[in-house]
Amino acid sequence: MFCKSLTKYNRHKTNVVNVGNVPLGGSNPIRTQSMINVATTDIDKAVEQCKKIAKAGADYVRATVQGKPEAESMKIIREKLNHEKINIPLIADVHFNPQVAKIVAQYVEKVRINPGNFIDKKHNSNKILDENEYNAELQRLRNEFVSLIDICKQHKTALRIGVNHGSLSEKITNRYGDTPTGMVESAMEFLRICKHEKFEDIVVSMKSSNTRVMVYAYRLLAEKMNAEKMNFPLHIGVTETGDGEDGRIKSAAGIGTLLADGLGDTIRVSLTEAPENEIPVAKKIVDYFVNRQKHDAVPDIDAEKYSPYEYKQRKTTAVNGFGGDNQIAVVADLSHINPVYDKDFENLGFVKDNKKWIKTDNSPDAVYTGSSLFDATTQGITILSDESENIIHCNISFFNDDFIAWLTKNPDNILMIESNNTNAVAELRACFLMLENANVKNPVIIRRIYDDKGIESLQIKAACDFGALLIDGFGDAVCLQNTKSESKNLTKICFSILQATRVRFSKTEFIACPSCGRTLFDIQKTLTEIKNKTSHLKHLKIAVMGCIVNGIGEMADADYGYVGAGAGKISLYKNKELVKRNIPQANAVNELVALIKDDGRWIE
Ligand code: SF4
Repeated sequence: MFCKSLTKYNRHKTNVVNVGNVPLGGSNPIRTQSMINVATTDIDKAVEQCKKIAKAGADYVRATVQGKPEAESMKIIREKLNHEKINIPLIADVHFNPQVAKIVAQYVEKVRINPGNFIDKKHNSNKILDENEYNAELQRLRNEFVSLIDICKQHKTALRIGVNHGSLSEKITNRYGDTPTGMVESAMEFLRICKHEKFEDIVVSMKSSNTRVMVYAYRLLAEKMNAEKMNFPLHIGVTETGDGEDGRIKSAAGIGTLLADGLGDTIRVSLTEAPENEIPVAKKIVDYFVNRQKHDAVPDIDAEKYSPYEYKQRKTTAVNGFGGDNQIAVVADLSHINPVYDKDFENLGFVKDNKKWIKTDNSPDAVYTGSSLFDATTQGITILSDESENIIHCNISFFNDDFIAWLTKNPDNILMIESNNTNAVAELRACFLMLENANVKNPVIIRRIYDDKGIESLQIKAACDFGALLIDGFGDAVCLQNTKSESKNLTKICFSILQATRVRFSKTEFIACPSCGRTLFDIQKTLTEIKNKTSHLKHLKIAVMGCIVNGIGEMADADYGYVGAGAGKISLYKNKELVKRNIPQANAVNELVALIKDDGRWIE
């Protein structure tokens, strides 16, 4: 199993890795980091950004290092920061060039390499290597990688084996596919060499812009490392999450799911915003899991039917618009508003369709007023059979044999399950496992109640909790209450969580990278411009990427891609195909719009 227990929160035990003066892994706090988005050769700007990120409270700062000049600049940046007594460890992010990694490993505290392009080159070939050819490639990798390890040992530099779903090597994808298994194998080839060389200062990551793919890949990696007696710490992150609420929710859904599993020693939230904005978000995610081990006990349930490595939606019976083939629903919770009135949802009783209120972008599919529902938590299950309402409000304390047996005979009742446990994910998951084990098909509304003043903190907590269950394939609807927020804000959060976990797309999906030293245009401004022009195209996924390193792969499931191609140049992609190469940046957004129109996919 990828984690020690599904029901008891424990941080997965990993090695301690020294990254300068800030160790990670073991029982150290979960570390946070961000990445500067200017070239390291622009020393003053780079130092300035490092200082801002450090001031925001980050544990580490990362920078992309493309070539030798950028590598040598890291030495100066380190010296300048030291001179100002800013000792925050620096991490160099290297793609394509092992020689650059070897240079910069002498100057910084940690180097990240990408197994997908450390030595492997793209040949656009579908050839699956036979055993001999594959082993010859591994030997070539070993020769290059061991000399980097030797430099790291000599300079006490840590390494991250940073796999990206969007930039796996052909050797891997041709053999394992573009899959979590492929991502894990890509890392394991490097980790086995580290183990053989007795090099322990290693951290591993499995990032993707797809929250499901990254969650399954990290879990699979944890299991694989356990099997091979490796305890390398994990760096967790979702890539290309964009900005604003969507970026926060997508990051929290992916990262929070894994932290709830006890996986993760350092995290990075990737936002298309100023780099220092990532740190408060990362800290809020980490803080949500501090002291979680003190949670109330959750019963151990047989998890034979649980599939943590692939998406398998729980099969349910369709009841009044919930479950079955219906979309995962959003239920607005107005039960705490008395009298039941909210200007967005006129004069309601409990309704199971949305005909009774003015439809807006964030209109829920149903509303829960509390008043007209049968409430198992206060009335007891003995009167269930007399109850005419078909929604049963309950929690884990009702999950005994009689209750399960009753549900089996009455599949046309909808369950609304909630939890007050600090580890609500584990408790709610236990409820779902009990239903699965007994083959109960009643649809389930997952309900969470928070009492949070800050909208950002609410977005994060809700995404961590609902996200983990939705990624598991559990839940036919979500119902969110926050005593301090307006209902319309809450339904908006719910729809964003459904989209972040890919169970329901209700708005344009923007996949945007955070930018780095490779980005040669103002990506924040461009993303805003593209959003302004295309946010009404709810049927589309649009990627905005700073460069082609991860750009093309990560936007694989986007309908259109806007990708930096050099100074003042943009390339446009349709699906994975390059359709306009190196067009002038000044007109590129209009060209993107024209492309969508030419395809007949534009709506006024
Ligand atoms: S896609 Fe390119 S520009 Fe964007 S963060 Fe990744 S490497 Fe940097």
